[in-house]
Amino acid sequence: MGLKYSSKINKIRTFALSLIFVGFVVMYIGIFFRSSMFVMTLFMILGLLFIIASTVIYFWIGMLSTKTVQVVCPSCNKITKMLGRVDMCMYCNEPLTLDPDLAGKEFDEKYNRKQKKKKG
Ligand SMILES: [Zn+2]
Repeated sequence: MGLKYSSKINKIRTFALSLIFVGFVVMYIGIFFRSSMFVMTLFMILGLLFIIASTVIYFWIGMLSTKTVQVVCPSCNKITKMLGRVDMCMYCNEPLTLDPDLAGKEFDEKYNRKQKKKKG
């Protein structure tokens, strides 16, 4: 389950990287419209917006990774990272929770989603 989270972050990272490329391509297309100052500026601004968007996404990934909490797994006594309210140990897949109300309950991915809905 821990892998699922990291792949999610990797997916966002790939998306942000592709946005930079799209931004440069759009700006490059703008060069072909040199004859029209207006169209060229339009493409340049559009390309810049893509690059700004990707910077924002990179910033968001940074924020997301600070939310991971280091805990000592009670089952294997190894230090593992968890994202969200419930997660699994990276080493032995022991279900872990930060919420004392959920302690002892069965592992459920839904707990993470519930919290997200409350925040939004
Ligand atoms: Zn463990």
